Amino acid sequence: MISIQGKGVSTGVAFGPLYYYQRQKSTIRRITVEDALAEWDRFKSAQATAISQLGELAAKALKEAGEEAAFLFETHQMMAEDMDYEEAIEELIKETKLNAEAAVTDVAAQFADMFAQMDDTYMQARAADVKDVSGRIIGILTGTTQGGIDSPVPVILAADDLAPSETVQLDKSKILAFVTEGGSGSSHTAILARTMGIPAIIGVGDQLKPEYEGREVIVDGSTGSVIVEADEATRTKMMAKREEQLKRLKLLEQLKGKENVTLDGQKIKVFCNIGNPEDVPTVLSNDGGGVGLFRSEFLYLNCSDYPTEDYQFEAYKKVLSDMDGKEVVIRTLDIGADKQIDYFEMPKEENPALGNRALRICLNRPEIFKTQLRALYRASAYGKLGIMFPMVTSVWEVKEAKKMCEMVKKELTAEGKPFADDVQIGIMIETPAAAVMSDRLAKLVDFFSCGTNDLTQYTLACDRQNNDLGRFFNPHHPAVLRLLKMVCENAHKNGVWVGICGELGADLELTETFLSIGIDELSVSPRSVLPLRQKIRETNVSEVREKVIADLMKDDIEL
Ligand code: PEP
Ligand code: MG
Repeated sequence: MISIQGKGVSTGVAFGPLYYYQRQKSTIRRITVEDALAEWDRFKSAQATAISQLGELAAKALKEAGEEAAFLFETHQMMAEDMDYEEAIEELIKETKLNAEAAVTDVAAQFADMFAQMDDTYMQARAADVKDVSGRIIGILTGTTQGGIDSPVPVILAADDLAPSETVQLDKSKILAFVTEGGSGSSHTAILARTMGIPAIIGVGDQLKPEYEGREVIVDGSTGSVIVEADEATRTKMMAKREEQLKRLKLLEQLKGKENVTLDGQKIKVFCNIGNPEDVPTVLSNDGGGVGLFRSEFLYLNCSDYPTEDYQFEAYKKVLSDMDGKEVVIRTLDIGADKQIDYFEMPKEENPALGNRALRICLNRPEIFKTQLRALYRASAYGKLGIMFPMVTSVWEVKEAKKMCEMVKKELTAEGKPFADDVQIGIMIETPAAAVMSDRLAKLVDFFSCGTNDLTQYTLACDRQNNDLGRFFNPHHPAVLRLLKMVCENAHKNGVWVGICGELGADLELTETFLSIGIDELSVSPRSVLPLRQKIRETNVSEVREKVIADLMKDDIEL
């Protein structure tokens, strides 16, 4: 038996023979062409074929994996006709007379390098996309096709890495799980695996060897473990785990349509966190009651220049319309710290997490803030909108942000542009200052949403990006939980509702605590909705509240 450890990015247990993905490699000739214009035409025709193939793939992905997956291929289509990309190829062909396939190869390497060197992990993952699109164009130019699975039975598919287009083209009935040597959790292939519900493990490096091909492998997507030729005891254990998971999924399905209500009748809203409009179908299919956090900065991260008011309006309108009257909380731009955007041209900072980020940027650069607020208010006519400001520390910041909202509303009224008159205004409680001042801040807003990822980071002075801090980064720390309790009390005294939209909201070990301190809403990833609903429905708050609060507030508390 051989045990291999990687990183699980899509849960589930699978058993099956290991199969190495066959990728046809084409050797790229480098030649000087005589007729550069004819060569340029050859590129343009291959580019057009690639764009049309990507359109077909988008349609296939839409049927098999949903809108989010289809969007990947639409993004690839845009990448294939990106002006900078095309111009770089044109220059090589026309000015150096390089043949088209070699020019595409060179430009792809140059763009992939550029993405790989960016600080942001999302942008780094785009290197794989540019290679994927270019591989397709090169394949068309050289007449080679992409690989597949030539096996009569379903397999555990191994590869060095898989491009999104390779993933979606594969015959899903033949795939039990994915295992890749490289990859990143935020790569589109990981996203696709999750959307398709196929277990996936990335980053096994060279532990997985081609000579294991054909042997039986067990993959556990929740732990990241890959076992080759398991012994009988391990096999039995993993079979039981798979049975358990399947049973659990069936049981969870039965919770769809049911209320998030405790045994003693306390109700709580369970909403979802999303990063773009394409996530909405997953919210609805998991029975999310609303959107508690739309991280609007992902719209900005997906653009190569400031997104216009109209572009943003369309995106917000889509989320609100698709949610069909359910509440949607859109957070205003939260960049800075780990989310850097080149076109913002922010000066480099020593301590970016404590620097110019989120609402601070918006207040310092009102033209950016105003564009977003105008788009948000215009979209409010299409649903039930809440606008939320991130990274608040002071009362004056909220007053200034609200003044800006008033100015925008006046402008829209003067222009005759419709907007809803019941837009809620809220703030994120993610700094200790906001938690401590929550009695005062509650007088200015309709709701609070606690960003426990940052609240933990700032309360414990522990960088949330640093994996080495281990036990020092403890979101269960009483300092964090006591702040949440205080925020709830201050909110409720002032008639303001409180949610949690940090990762902690889905932590089932704390559901009793959140219910006991009176949290009104938990916003979690779509897949966490039903497990959380189950936990809520099993809890009797009146039975546990006293003890939970006494434990949290006791004098001799550990830590
Ligand atoms: C948080 O800080 O908990 C939060 C939800 O915001 P983000 O993770 O986007 O910083
Ligand atoms: Mg945050």
